Amino acid sequence: EKEEWKKLVNEKTLTSDGAHVELAANIGTTNDLEGVIKNGAEGVGLFRTEFLYMGRDELPSEEEQYEAYKTVLEKMEGKPVVIRTLDIGGDKELPYLDLPEEMNPFLGLRAVRLCLEMPDMFRVQLRALLRASSFGNLKIMFPMIAAMEELRQAKVILQEEKDKLITEGIEVSDSIEIGIMVEIPSTAAAADRFVKEVDFFSIGTNDLIQYTLAADRMNERVSYLYQPYHPAIIRLIKNVIDVAHQEGKWVGMCGEMAGDEVAIPILLGLGLDEFSMSATSILPARNQLLQLSKQETAEWVTSLLAFDTSEEIEQEVRTRFLP
Ligand code: PEP
Ligand code: MG
Repeated sequence: EKEEWKKLVNEKTLTSDGAHVELAANIGTTNDLEGVIKNGAEGVGLFRTEFLYMGRDELPSEEEQYEAYKTVLEKMEGKPVVIRTLDIGGDKELPYLDLPEEMNPFLGLRAVRLCLEMPDMFRVQLRALLRASSFGNLKIMFPMIAAMEELRQAKVILQEEKDKLITEGIEVSDSIEIGIMVEIPSTAAAADRFVKEVDFFSIGTNDLIQYTLAADRMNERVSYLYQPYHPAIIRLIKNVIDVAHQEGKWVGMCGEMAGDEVAIPILLGLGLDEFSMSATSILPARNQLLQLSKQETAEWVTSLLAFDTSEEIEQEVRTRFLP
């Protein structure tokens, strides 16, 4: 089986009826790029930049970040690269920031919330990203957006840094797409509002599931409630994709669900445009997608809305698509 997948490394991901979906990779450091290329990713769908900030005792400089972003863009040779701004907090701490302890870190000052609270730190990252932008096909993504004000503030700061760089005579790409992670239920439910002010969405199911079902993604005692195929999750994903497509915007997914064989027929049917996953999942996912019909899954997928439980939905997918 593995030998057969290898033949797919240089193939585009086309469904049996000829529809193209993009299979991209999630990365944490530039060292991951070797695996990304070896496994035939069509892009980077999520660069988790927090790893640049972790395992050290001070913030990474603008120069250091610029080098890392430039490396990723160059090595991907013009393929799309989605770089997510700092997503620290929750389970990922930066001891050198000396932040006060929180009762509920996953509901606390994490990710874009922290960046807006510490704009000087945020501006350094944005400058590094903007400076690197001329070396490839960069898309910038803000994590943990819960309210429109956050998106607007982040975009204002980004624009300010862009204007400054241009005044300084530094080259900045004029085709950088700006997107947000959809990983908080408020944003998934109000996606029709957010979509007007972004170029794309990327659904972060790891957090979206934990926040929608109120079940800690790390707590084994409630793991039975961590249900990717819960009817609410299917509805939220469907809403996000539907409203984005109505506005002509694309939707990706960078949570674990994007590479899950049970989820793939559902996501294809719902119209997901980009699937981003760990590099080692790309070839099996491509192999699976080659054998699925987009039209057939699209006609079938609405029938899932009549099921009550995650288990029934999983069973329906398995019976039909995973013999
Ligand atoms: C997610 O929440 O689905 C996601 C991709 O982000 P992370 O796993 O880094 O929180
Ligand atoms: Mg997340």
